[in-house]
Amino acid sequence: MNKPNEAERISNGLSHQELGTQLDLYSFHEIAPGAPFWHPKGMVIFKELEKLIREALDKQDYQEISTPIMVRKDLFEKSGHFQFYKDMMFTIKMENQTFVVKPMNCPESTIVYSSRVRSWRDLPLRFSEIGRLHRKELSGVLNGLFRVRQITMDDAHIYASPDQMLDEINKIIQLIDSFYKIFNFKTSYHLATRPDKAMGDKALWDKAEKALAEALKQNEIKYELQPKEGAFYGPKIEVHVKDSLGRSWQLGTIQVDFNMAESFKLGFMNDRGKKEPPVVIHRAVFGSFERFIGILVENYQGAFPVWISPVQVKILSLTDRNADYAKKIATELKESGVRAEVDDSNETIGKKIRAAELEKLPYILVIGDKEEQVGAVAVRARGKGNLGPMEFEKFKEKILNEIVKKI
Ligand SMILES: [Zn+2]
Repeated sequence: MNKPNEAERISNGLSHQELGTQLDLYSFHEIAPGAPFWHPKGMVIFKELEKLIREALDKQDYQEISTPIMVRKDLFEKSGHFQFYKDMMFTIKMENQTFVVKPMNCPESTIVYSSRVRSWRDLPLRFSEIGRLHRKELSGVLNGLFRVRQITMDDAHIYASPDQMLDEINKIIQLIDSFYKIFNFKTSYHLATRPDKAMGDKALWDKAEKALAEALKQNEIKYELQPKEGAFYGPKIEVHVKDSLGRSWQLGTIQVDFNMAESFKLGFMNDRGKKEPPVVIHRAVFGSFERFIGILVENYQGAFPVWISPVQVKILSLTDRNADYAKKIATELKESGVRAEVDDSNETIGKKIRAAELEKLPYILVIGDKEEQVGAVAVRARGKGNLGPMEFEKFKEKILNEIVKKI
């Protein structure tokens, strides 16, 4: 993980911790170190990201699963994780049994896979999971949303036959690429290959590395080769993105795994009626919701694109007489799927505008007698100032169009 240093971060604007407080998105408290408290406005961003990823996964025939947060330790011993990561895992003893709080979803996804006999006709199986994970990060390294003890991952495990590997990697690359285009993040790809100490058949490694490289080529993606830097259980592609502040983050991963099928004796019946191990691909598009939201908050400095803004429109009444019309406009917007709020306080309109501008929201509508009489709204757009009066229906059409287009 590339962690920007503090000085670089602050010199480029406010930190996500400061912006989180200012914009009422989330907060951090000593009673739960490394775990954010999400406020309603922060949850809107979280939910929009969940919606975005779920919609994309539905189109690619993923099936969503949800596995327990707490499982018996022996599952993680069987996968080999406990031996390697026990310092990072929270354990709980109960009735002579030891449980772990899962630090990753992989071993539990195999339980769903193995819940029935799988045939080649069932593959590929793409199990996605928005899993809540816990890791024992020391208090000294915790850093807002960037380094947490409680992580929500946009995880998935794909079970495929070796022949399906190329197609699957292709699909994942396209998914990752389309996702980062929405945020205008520039991506760079790194391919890490077989280390000296590796498990699994050399021929299978070669096939997997070839599939990863071929998929990148087919998508016309230039990449950096990282020889011998793959995991001991398989090669991987790492995706780095550059944000508007010029910082690089490693977010997406595509990892081929030859170990899981062996540890858990996973199999499928091939077309010759013989049991064969599937290839398992771990993949994440943006890694963790927490870190990604932290990056977004700093990247936009709180001035989010319309589609993901916690409040998209603030409606200000010029006088008391206009309060009912302002509320009516807000209700109509909300019913159309626009997040709107009303400020009908007794403050002067100048003060109300300044307060709304501090919230960095995309649109402010001012409603006076003149607007009310003709069914119009006076529109102020973030960064563009006063756009003047507009028919309300026209404004509604404009903002709905921007939301659909993810502007
Ligand atoms: Zn995994």
